[in-house]
Amino acid sequence: MRPFTYAAPDTVAATVSALHIAQPGTRILAGGTTLYDLMKLDIETPPAVLDVHRIAELRTIEAGPRELVLGAGARMADVADHPAVKAAYPGLSESLWRAASQQLRIMATVGGNLLQRTRCPYFRNGPEFPCNKRRPGSGCAAVGGHDRTHALLGGSDACIATYAGDFAVMLIAFDAVVDVVGPDGERTVPLAGLHVEPGDDPAREHVLAPDELIVRIRVPATPAARGSTYLKIRDRESYAFALAAAGVGVTVEADGAVGDCRIGLGGVATRPWRAMEAERTLIGRPLTPQSARRAGEAAFAGARAGAENGFRIELGVRTVADALRIAGERAIR
Ligand SMILES: Cc1cc2nc3c(=O)[nH]c(=O)nc-3n(C[C@H](O)[C@H](O)[C@H](O)COP(=O)(O)OP(=O)(O)OC[C@H]3O[C@@H](n4cnc5c(N)ncnc54)[C@H](O)[C@@H]3O)c2cc1C
Ligand code: SF4
Repeated sequence: MRPFTYAAPDTVAATVSALHIAQPGTRILAGGTTLYDLMKLDIETPPAVLDVHRIAELRTIEAGPRELVLGAGARMADVADHPAVKAAYPGLSESLWRAASQQLRIMATVGGNLLQRTRCPYFRNGPEFPCNKRRPGSGCAAVGGHDRTHALLGGSDACIATYAGDFAVMLIAFDAVVDVVGPDGERTVPLAGLHVEPGDDPAREHVLAPDELIVRIRVPATPAARGSTYLKIRDRESYAFALAAAGVGVTVEADGAVGDCRIGLGGVATRPWRAMEAERTLIGRPLTPQSARRAGEAAFAGARAGAENGFRIELGVRTVADALRIAGERAIR
């Protein structure tokens, strides 16, 4: 780990001013569970960090009748366990509970979770391997290499790294937004527009400027959110990233037809992925094992497999179908 300077401003305004005049590469430090890891691996080498844990405004959790408002610095464990989140957004609570370990969830924040970086092993552990994300223009060791955990959707010839987080998958299904503050004031970014696909510039992962801070995440309160679930399939039952995950919310009308349907995919794409074609196959039709399976197939219709990750297409189809069954049992009429 290289030397860096540390400061802990106690307001959003002070943080944004400090970011604006900071040396290039200065990073926000929230729980540090990703950032310090990457600094120890010499992947992130910030000259300075601004620790935001003292900012009370960032830690609030407010569940209103129209939306859930989460301060970016709220801890994953606190959000997962919040009674209003569990009642009105069960899939959101599950997406956090099924991420990382309890020790990590107590330390880590929801804002930091959104901006965590990929777990591509070539990116994290292999400076000797070419990696366009780590060293732009050097190539990609995963394309044509060991790609068992890499993306099936949204990849490019330059990078097929999977977006690793769970929480954003449920957020994208619920049309969440993030409020961001920078030197020019506040702006709102839809979750669906926060992360970007690698294209030919894999080093760029999101649309935030270096001097912008996420202050809060807002999630609309919808009947589909109340009938939601997050199903995560992984190599072992806890403390592992998803091989395939589905964040699903549905409503079922009195006649048994699906009213609203939201499907987010995790662990299989280069960014949090909304499967809108799959949603459309279900709306207005009864939710049956067959229609759920068809929706899963529609979700993966554009999948592109490499040498070792093809088995995760069928795994993903079944994950979507199973999540739809669970959400259907919870669905609100
Ligand atoms: C062993 C292990 C297993 C894990 N398993 C999972 C898993 O299964 N699922 C999962 O989803 N996650 C998993 N994680 C990742 C973990 O959830 C993240 O490390 C954590 O959520 C990051 O939050 P943090 O507050 O510690 O962020 P930090 O490490 O402090 O920051 C992460 C990034 O976000 C930026 N940042 C933080 N807050 C803000 C803000 N308010 N505005 C702008 N930028 C900000 C930082 O500058 C940094 O770039 C795992 C981590 C580990 C170490
Ligand atoms: S998949 Fe992306 S992160 Fe992984 S080696 Fe290739 S360029 Fe690097």
